[in-house]
Amino acid sequence: MKLHEYRSKQLFAKYGVLIPRGRVAMTAHEAKSIARELGGPVVIKAQVLVGGRGKAGGIRLVHTPEEAEEAARQILGMQIKGLPVRKVLVDEAAEIRSEIYLGVTNDRAARCPVMIASAEGGIDIEEVARTLPDKIVRVHIDPLLGMREYQARYLAVSIELPREHWHDFIDMACGLYRVFTNSDATLAEINPLVITDDNRLVALDGKMVLDDNALFRHPDLAEMRDLDEEAPAEREARRFGLSYLKLDGTIGCMVNGAGLAMATMDVIKLFGAEPANFLDIGGGAGAEKVAVALNLILRDANVKAVMFNIFGGITRCDEVARGILAALDESKGDIPMVARLVGTNEDEGYKLLAKANMIMATSLADAAQKAVALAVESQLQ
Ligand code: GDP
Ligand code: MN
Repeated sequence: MKLHEYRSKQLFAKYGVLIPRGRVAMTAHEAKSIARELGGPVVIKAQVLVGGRGKAGGIRLVHTPEEAEEAARQILGMQIKGLPVRKVLVDEAAEIRSEIYLGVTNDRAARCPVMIASAEGGIDIEEVARTLPDKIVRVHIDPLLGMREYQARYLAVSIELPREHWHDFIDMACGLYRVFTNSDATLAEINPLVITDDNRLVALDGKMVLDDNALFRHPDLAEMRDLDEEAPAEREARRFGLSYLKLDGTIGCMVNGAGLAMATMDVIKLFGAEPANFLDIGGGAGAEKVAVALNLILRDANVKAVMFNIFGGITRCDEVARGILAALDESKGDIPMVARLVGTNEDEGYKLLAKANMIMATSLADAAQKAVALAVESQLQ
């Protein structure tokens, strides 16, 4: 779950990170009165859950409350990368001397958190990593010890931060690490962290991604979920306890178990196509859940063929087949489908599916080959 910039920065502030004064507005009129309250120049910032808002015109520096109102009106009417802007943050503007990147995430290979800093802040860190890899410094953090001061100092030295800012920077880095672990985040990022003309170190932008699987420990954070801004398919999947992730390929797949879903995606790739989604219906899924899952898959216009790979155990193949039939009753599409069922009640499952216009497969490889061939065929039509 991603947090909006203003939520992230409010959290950061609780951990001693300095942020600009400002508030969020839902209307242009509100933006104007916040700008008046703050006095002086302000920035109007679109609150959408994607990066690169600056480049998309979603961030404007203005000098009067009237200009703030006008800019807010324009930004509130925008869509950024397909997402409508429903809120703007009105922050006092900063005079920027230099922009730094500071972020913490998990390094899966190293099996611990890593804090990353760069003197090349403001732009995409991925871009910096590609073009100027030497400009990025990392320290790995022992989760049992936490972030140590000397590690933050090492980052400060490595990005050639002027010595007068070391003290504040160390506080911020340690604060950022604490907010990261205390919130069960997978990312906490300040980009840019700026040195202002009046020589302060301020977090101008903030971004946090929380681990959905730990949200139950943070009811206060879970409440911040912005349903308006999530893909409707993913929202529905969550409601039914399905793990669904849309991808770019043409083969929709429905699988029980995350590991099997990954293996299925690999096998689809092996035979030359790309999966349209990751979908784990979980163990013991009933017919209703299966029907919801199939509807999710079929809603994706890229899907040219569907492949079912069900390993029956607690999940019963006949129950899955019933769900498939129920979903097919509702949607009268002509997407070709391939099923491979193995395990508990597989015979019954196949028997039920024989009523539908379904291609049966004898193994995972067989299913993938058939699905890939069908997808290619229907793309040619
Ligand atoms: P992003 O594009 O979505 O990452 O949004 P950011 O909040 O990072 O803003 C993008 C850029 O806008 C920053 O790197 C700054 O260069 C600029 N910017 C943001 N806030 C201010 C501000 O208060 N004053 C000035 N002068 N520039 C700002
Ligand atoms: Mn940014």
